[in-house]
Amino acid sequence: MPKAEYLNYVGGEWVGAEKGETTTVINPANGAKLADVPKGGKADAEAAIDAAREAFDKGKWPRMTPGDRAAALLKLAALIESDMDRLAILESKNQGKTIKQARDGDLPFSVDNLRFMAGAARTLAGSASMEYAYGATSILRREPIGVVGSITPWNYPFMMDIWKIAPALAAGNTVVLKPASLTPVTTIELAKIIEKAGLPPGTVNVITGPGSVLGEALASSEKVDMVSLTGDTSTGKEIMRAGANNVKKLHLELGGKAPFIVFDDANLEAAAQGAVAASMVNGGQDCTQAARFLVQEKVYPKFVRRMVELLKTIRIGDPLERTTDLGPLVSDKQREKVEKYASIAKGEGAKLEIGGARPKGKAFEKGWYYLPTLFSDATFDMRISCEEVFGPIVTAMSFRTEEQAIEIANNVIYGLYSSVWTKNIHRAFRVANAMHFGAAEINEHLPLVSEMPHGGYKQSGFGKDLSIYSLEEYTNVKHVFVDMTDADRKPWHYTTFGDPM
Ligand code: NAD
Repeated sequence: MPKAEYLNYVGGEWVGAEKGETTTVINPANGAKLADVPKGGKADAEAAIDAAREAFDKGKWPRMTPGDRAAALLKLAALIESDMDRLAILESKNQGKTIKQARDGDLPFSVDNLRFMAGAARTLAGSASMEYAYGATSILRREPIGVVGSITPWNYPFMMDIWKIAPALAAGNTVVLKPASLTPVTTIELAKIIEKAGLPPGTVNVITGPGSVLGEALASSEKVDMVSLTGDTSTGKEIMRAGANNVKKLHLELGGKAPFIVFDDANLEAAAQGAVAASMVNGGQDCTQAARFLVQEKVYPKFVRRMVELLKTIRIGDPLERTTDLGPLVSDKQREKVEKYASIAKGEGAKLEIGGARPKGKAFEKGWYYLPTLFSDATFDMRISCEEVFGPIVTAMSFRTEEQAIEIANNVIYGLYSSVWTKNIHRAFRVANAMHFGAAEINEHLPLVSEMPHGGYKQSGFGKDLSIYSLEEYTNVKHVFVDMTDADRKPWHYTTFGDPM
């Protein structure tokens, strides 16, 4: 019997890693052991890929009607919904996110995403059916792609699983799902719920282990038709290299460094409240995090002052308490990264307004906590202004003109999320349109909805999550061309041989 408390789910069976190795998962709030999970290797990845391949080539799931697939996904959504209290606690213990974020944000949104995709499964249709050439008709089919390797990050473990598997399954694919090594617990719980929902064996397979081994195996395998990653831009590049050998279809949701542009006519209090909510969300470990505050010079001092006042009200502590606003970072390594960037920012000459240190006190000794941190007087070319940090640390800088704000906002390699704050409707639309980002919000920063696409420009990746656009990502479009004449000689044959008819 394998030693792991949590096991991999492959071909409908619960199995340990082939070599029997396990990884200990830690609770970032107190450094205590949360679980042991299998530390899978190449052989484990291959077994999961084979199971998904078999389920796609011969199994029931791709051959079910969209209506039957929708019913199965709705059942899965209902089972998750009835288990949200337990799952939220586990998510908080594994990731460090606050219980209110997990229970009232990630989990209900995941259920809604799944329900949306269940409904959308039944809307997949070719967009054309018509005669475009002599006596022949054209039909479009939307077909599943095949085996999808889904690789998820540690910041929203359960929600990212759903963003990956929901559209893939709705479209009729089978999946090998690999969670981040730091946060595999709720993904394995999801596999248990998938089993309970009665999805055919091999439809979803879950394997845990190092990304460099399992992720690489998925990306380079000939038997995997598509890889979908949410993760760091550098990981996206590695997957592109690994998938190049077999020209694999990729879907990459990568890093971000979102600008938040405040003009001097904005509702400043709304902007400051929005700034704190959108920068400290999930401990700042969010690809859409408002990370660069560009504020027009007339209101810049007032905005920074108000933001500092509001950041002081953030309650840092045990993430399982409903009154906690900010939990620990996900790992000691992530906290070290934040600390490194804080010292880079100081070295670059940015002014520390608040934070910049670990919180003091016994309650924080064992966890990976860091105070909400704001640097002001940054310039657009500082590393702290351009590079993704992924923590409760953000910068503010002032600008003079609209053109300057647009130029600074776009001056990063990323292009995921942006927002503009102003009461001038003409300017609001002008600036939103000028953003080289996959999303531009006006007088708001963060909300996502199941019906609208989420995805990047530039090095934030390509392919969309959420919405019908995401469902389409997980399909191939096939043109079926049907001759209706039964003629021996077709009007175009002479271009190859003989003369026109
Ligand atoms: P990461 O890139 O380190 O890991 C992501 C996943 O990739 C993990 O499962 C990891 O095990 C795996 N992996 C690592 N190396 C691999 C390799 N060589 N081949 C294949 N897989 C590999 O990212 P992370 O630190 O877990 O998450 C944070 C990053 O995710 C940030 O950059 C953030 O911006 C990004 N993110 C983006 C979005 C989005 O929608 N664009 C959403 C959430 C997170």
